[in-house]
Amino acid sequence: MIRLSDYLKNEYNEKVYKLSLSTGCTCPNRDGTAGWGGCTFCSAGGSGEFAAHAGGATASTAHPDWDSARAAAEIDRQITEAKGRISAKTNARLFIAYFQSFTNTYGDPDYLGSLFRAALEKEEVVILSVATRPDCISDRMLEILAELNNSKPVWIELGLQTAHDQTAERLNRGYPRAVFEDCVRRLKEAGITVIVHVIFGLPGETREDMLDTIRYLARVKPEGIKIQMLQLLKGSRLAEEYEAAPFPLFTLEEYADLVAESLRLLPEDMVLHRMTGDGPRKLLIAPLWCLDKKRVLNTMNARIGEL
Ligand code: SF4
Repeated sequence: MIRLSDYLKNEYNEKVYKLSLSTGCTCPNRDGTAGWGGCTFCSAGGSGEFAAHAGGATASTAHPDWDSARAAAEIDRQITEAKGRISAKTNARLFIAYFQSFTNTYGDPDYLGSLFRAALEKEEVVILSVATRPDCISDRMLEILAELNNSKPVWIELGLQTAHDQTAERLNRGYPRAVFEDCVRRLKEAGITVIVHVIFGLPGETREDMLDTIRYLARVKPEGIKIQMLQLLKGSRLAEEYEAAPFPLFTLEEYADLVAESLRLLPEDMVLHRMTGDGPRKLLIAPLWCLDKKRVLNTMNARIGEL
């Protein structure tokens, strides 16, 4: 497997930084369109606690008064803010425009397209990365994403979490695996890069179930993968379930072993975007070993190196 940092250095000859931006979209799994209450592991921030907040109206509502100039102004404001958060520590020059929180294709495709286009038109933005759900990419949205992908790479991140429909139902994910497969097929046909999120440690799953998810993705072959340990965050329904009736969570060593074994099963040319969680400290209930990032990375790198 190729680590994301190596992939980016190879493609751009320097480090590329993520700018966390927001479309202002909500999530159809929270407002009743696909389901109510959201996925049980998702906190109030919609799986993207660090994203900038959109100043405009919510994209899932009508936008009678938007135009491309307003979209560009909104993106300008967010990019300046996001750069300010990282440039104090670095001399970053190249960026990924990263729309992470909630479901960033859940809204008027032309409005969202104008936000994405405004971000990509910035010279220093080299990639557009959009997190969304596989049941939320309309034909019009796909057409716009494919057109943008002709100018600079567009990455679509899909939160699969597990290949097992039974676990997905328990998580209230709100769509079956067949929907994911169809979405990946459409994105691949359009030439768009697909990145899939997986969570290890979901309640009810055995280690073998998690490895089955990895074997499944080795067959589906998205271009990239993000693996993370289940993190129980304040405000999520799963954290409430855990506090009422604790279920087993991996130790760091068990998790590192499982990730190392997974990496062996995945294609060599797949890009590894993440192998740890990045949940906010103030919301984390368990497992607390996630907070010691240095120890986590050292342990994981040692296990991976042993293979
Ligand atoms: S689809 Fe994403 S934003 Fe929506 S509830 Fe699930 S994890 Fe949260």
